[in-house]
Parts: sequence; C-alpha cells; structure tokens
Amino acid sequence: MKTGLMRKLKGTMLKNIHGMITCREFEEFVLKYLDGELPARQARIFEWHLRICRECREYLAAYKRAIEISKAALGPATGAVPEDVPEDLIRAVLDSREG
Ligand SMILES: [Zn+2]
Repeated sequence: MKTGLMRKLKGTMLKNIHGMITCREFEEFVLKYLDGELPARQARIFEWHLRICRECREYLAAYKRAIEISKAALGPATGAVPEDVPEDLIRAVLDSREG
C-alpha cells in the first residue's frame, strides 16, 4: 500500500488551496462540526474537504458510528455494538466527550 505517499501528495495539494484544511485539521474539526459548533466559514471548508477527500469521508462515517455506539453504551442498553467499529475509536470518542 502506498497510502503514505498519496496522503503526502494530497496534503501538499490541499495546502495550495487557499483556506483549505489538512486531514489533520479535519480530524480536529470533526467533533465541533458534529456538535454544530463550527463557525459557518469553517463548516464550509470542512464540507469542501469532505467532498474531495475520501479518507476523511470514511473517517467521518466511522466517527459518527462510534458516537452512536458510545451514546448507546452510556444510555440504556438498546442493542448490540456492531463489530466493524474499532474499539480504539470508540474509546477516543468517549474520552473526547468526557474531556
Ligand atoms: Zn482529508
């Protein structure tokens, strides 16, 4: 897999677009975005990044799923945890929520 190289290339590309965020910044924005706390301008950039970056689309999808699961885990037991979500991610979501 040459994803490391692709990631680097894409990072360079993204930086050359004015105002664009990197995948790293995207990850930092995810929580605020989902909470609706991202200012409109940043939300637009966030969504723009989402459109052109497949990795971040997948990241966001996994993140949303992890939040659903963490809610279910914190609330009344409503069902089983899907097995395709990494435990690390669930823990990361729980940690950031409690932060
Ligand atoms: Zn990205």
